[in-house]
Amino acid sequence: MKKDRFILMSFDVEEFDLPLEYKQTISLSEQLEVGKAGLDVIAALMQDFKIPCTLFTTANFAIHFPESIAEMALHHEIASHTYYHNSFKEADLLLSKQKLEEIAGTMVSGLRMPRMQPVDMKAVKAAGYDYDASINPTLIPGRYNNFHLPRTIYRENEVNRIPASVTPNVRIPLFWLAFKNFPFPLYKKLAIQTIRHDGYICLYFHPWEFTNISSYLLPGYIKNIYGIRLQNMLRKLISDLQKEGEFITIRDYLQKSPV
Ligand SMILES: [Zn+2]
Repeated sequence: MKKDRFILMSFDVEEFDLPLEYKQTISLSEQLEVGKAGLDVIAALMQDFKIPCTLFTTANFAIHFPESIAEMALHHEIASHTYYHNSFKEADLLLSKQKLEEIAGTMVSGLRMPRMQPVDMKAVKAAGYDYDASINPTLIPGRYNNFHLPRTIYRENEVNRIPASVTPNVRIPLFWLAFKNFPFPLYKKLAIQTIRHDGYICLYFHPWEFTNISSYLLPGYIKNIYGIRLQNMLRKLISDLQKEGEFITIRDYLQKSPV
């Protein structure tokens, strides 16, 4: 293992409200149930590999499953995915941090906005966060164009901003949709290229992707691979990336390598 290279794996732990975007009704209890089933899968998988990850969690999710979040906090970093997944007001930055700290019993220093929504760094700083991970520094048609932003960690208004990794130069995204839509050998090659170039890689997924979401009315590029098949792909990715570097939480990486 190369000790000077790092893999920052993260998951957005949330109510599975995505079907609502595709006009399918799903109750809050079902949204929570799917999110929790996914979290249980991820917990076991991380345990098998004995690696830490960062869990960006909504306060709403944590309120419904406090014991799980407190348990996960013993081995992983709990960070904020705001209060509710499908609504946001600026006060939620602080309220979610406080609620997650109370439930997890640890400091919460990181933020990722649902759907990578833009957020004011002054407000993020005022709420007491050390870092924000809400940027995908590439072009996602119909969502955003962040080609002008730095590819790797930078500071803005005294907040560390840690973008989701994209490849050097052409900025091919390495986020969750790339993982399930690129052929695995290509994704792995691009990930390794990025780790070797940047010294680290910041990846993100959602626990619900690793459950059976086949019955929901989602586009094929979201649900073409799910459940156990995707779990096996993630296992393969972790085991391949372990040869390239050390898995570490985002908080610990920022402490080790100040911006
Ligand atoms: Zn989310």
